[in-house]
Amino acid sequence: MADKPAIPGAPQGVFLRGVGSAVAEKLERLGIRREADLVFHLPLRYEDETRLTPIRDALPGVSAQFEVEVISAEIAYRPRRQLVAKVRDASGLLVLRFLNFYPSQQKVLQSGARLRVFGEVRGGFFGSEIIHPRFHVVGDDEPLPQGLTPVYPTTAGLGQATLRKLIDRAIERASNDGGLDDTLPETLRARLALPELASSIRILHHPPPDISLEQLETRGHPAWRRIAFDELLAQQLSLRRAHALRRAHVAPQLNAGGKLTDALLQQLPFRLTTAQQRVWEEIATDLAAPHPMRRLLQGDVGSGKTVVAALAMLRAVDNGYQAALMAPTEILAEQHYRKLVAWLAPLGIEVAWLSGSQKKRARAAWQQKVGAGDTALIVGTHALIEEGVEFARLGLAIVDEQHRFGVRQRLALGQKGMGGDARRAAPSASSPPVGGSEPPLRAWGGNRVPHQLTMSATPIPRTLAMSYYADLDVSVIDELPPGRTPVLTKLVSESRRDEVVARVRDACRAGRQAYWVCPLIEESEALQLKTAQETFAYLTAELPELRIGLVHGRLKADEKAAVMAAFVANEVQLLVATTVIEVGVDVPNATLMVIEHAERFGLAQLHQLRGRVGRGSFDSACILLYARPLGETARARLKIIFENTDGFEIARQDLHLRGPGEFIGARQSGLPMLRYADLEDAALIEQARTAAEELLRGDPAVVQRHLERWLGGRGELLGA
Ligand code: ADP
Ligand code: MG
Repeated sequence: MADKPAIPGAPQGVFLRGVGSAVAEKLERLGIRREADLVFHLPLRYEDETRLTPIRDALPGVSAQFEVEVISAEIAYRPRRQLVAKVRDASGLLVLRFLNFYPSQQKVLQSGARLRVFGEVRGGFFGSEIIHPRFHVVGDDEPLPQGLTPVYPTTAGLGQATLRKLIDRAIERASNDGGLDDTLPETLRARLALPELASSIRILHHPPPDISLEQLETRGHPAWRRIAFDELLAQQLSLRRAHALRRAHVAPQLNAGGKLTDALLQQLPFRLTTAQQRVWEEIATDLAAPHPMRRLLQGDVGSGKTVVAALAMLRAVDNGYQAALMAPTEILAEQHYRKLVAWLAPLGIEVAWLSGSQKKRARAAWQQKVGAGDTALIVGTHALIEEGVEFARLGLAIVDEQHRFGVRQRLALGQKGMGGDARRAAPSASSPPVGGSEPPLRAWGGNRVPHQLTMSATPIPRTLAMSYYADLDVSVIDELPPGRTPVLTKLVSESRRDEVVARVRDACRAGRQAYWVCPLIEESEALQLKTAQETFAYLTAELPELRIGLVHGRLKADEKAAVMAAFVANEVQLLVATTVIEVGVDVPNATLMVIEHAERFGLAQLHQLRGRVGRGSFDSACILLYARPLGETARARLKIIFENTDGFEIARQDLHLRGPGEFIGARQSGLPMLRYADLEDAALIEQARTAAEELLRGDPAVVQRHLERWLGGRGELLGA
């Protein structure tokens, strides 16, 4: 993460004092830049050094502390260079073994030296031994610590002792200069039964002797709860404030009353589901407001998000603005394009098409029209956000399958609505400083920015939506269009491939179609994945009577489009594909989905792929072919996908399995992870959210202080 400028007007003494640059650099690696960061750098776990154990009483596998005298210490070379010290106490002998060691450690381990040693004893070749114990030379009459010893997260070359000293000093200073003062109003603390900050911090860094180690380690102690709450509150405040700042921007008001949306509804071959109707109303309300919408439209695969997007786009057109729809792949973008053309051509509306693969001249022609405002609806891939694409008056930007894009790309489309100069002048919008105010986003026609709608079929579990995505408004289509048939899921071992092939033959004979998905196209022995080409050749040999197509990422766009068109027309009966078909393909006649090496896929992908079938009135099945041996996680994933059909439940279990960092794709999302709060603690998140709303309404000074403490110069909590 690039360095952020200091907040102007931040209190003095905030930055690290008395720390050399080498140490500072290591601290930086831990995210510690200020005194406050040290204070909030909390232990990973604790060790009990309050007692001494006689060597004879040591239990294997249990950490304990011994007080010993060094008998001898020498470097041995069998099998590799290592430092081996023999030590004893009155009850027995012990070997300390160091595979990595510093000269300073070697120097201390002199025969006759008295040490306190902490570690886990195990049986070794020379008798009981400890590998890499922590130890220090013990002074005369040195008392044992009164409380548990904290063990901090650290980085190479930064020892626990140094870190502990720095942290203790920072706590000491903070106690004197108000750094531990409570940011929470007394009433709030009382209501939520949260302990004071100062005592919580002290307890966690220096647990008193009588505290329950278990409560500390499982983080069930009230002091931990207080810290987790503060962290969640900072997140909520930051995101809610971003939300509020956005409302200060001006967006074109896209009012109801035009003809186009109604005309589309009239000529659709179906009626909106109740859920579609509801989300369309939510979106329409936002669009009519004078500030930019930032809404996420969630809906399971096949729930019908596209038509809602089309309605929103037409609302823009009805009001004299442009609307753009960006999709992550050519196939998906093209499918949107075709669908919109089919729906809108009868209404006399032209749709512009921009993609990386189209001919230069065609693209230039569309760009010209888009720039001149001669065409109102634009569909495409990343090509939409490329240099040189200018919109005359973009009122609405829609991004489909938002999780496939990085934060920057998502933002880029929204910024396209801004005049060229303003866009260049705008700072990196993904990380405006939290401490300062966001610079106004100037845009074309004054200071207007387009509305933004993102769509996703990968559900965000409730707790994530309430935390990381708190600055987005969310609409959910929680109902599938009528007439869908539930998909039967089967787990089948690779060794029964023949039966699966037979099943494909039967389905196609009955007039249906099938997908056969392979994870990779290139030979990769290491992963032992079947290539799509091999599978294609194999299936062609096994099923000579079928018309089989192959689609993968290496095909040229027009080749890809040709295969897909043939599949849509049922000229291709069996489509062998890599995951390029993951999103968006819509062929109701396809009833069988075979996924090879299903154990290698993520849950979201499996769910997406399975959603490609069951779109018509025929019975559908998804066959997950797996290869042994199955790892623990792979087994867990297959079990989840087998047992669940609800995308939200799958996402919830996925979050549980992988943790939030992996789940969101921390790097891609640009969001820093919560360190102390547990995302499965929905109750605490809820409390933080309510508190944030109250404070933002009534206590701006508290908000400011709390954010400064938790975020300081790091403003990256603002999501996109
Ligand atoms: P997704 O939410 O996965 O993007 P789509 O928008 O592609 O789903 O819709 C899936 C299919 O369902 C499309 O063929 C679409 O035309 C159809 N569809 C959408 N809404 C309805 C509805 N209310 N009734 C019947 N079919 C619908
Ligand atoms: Mg879709």
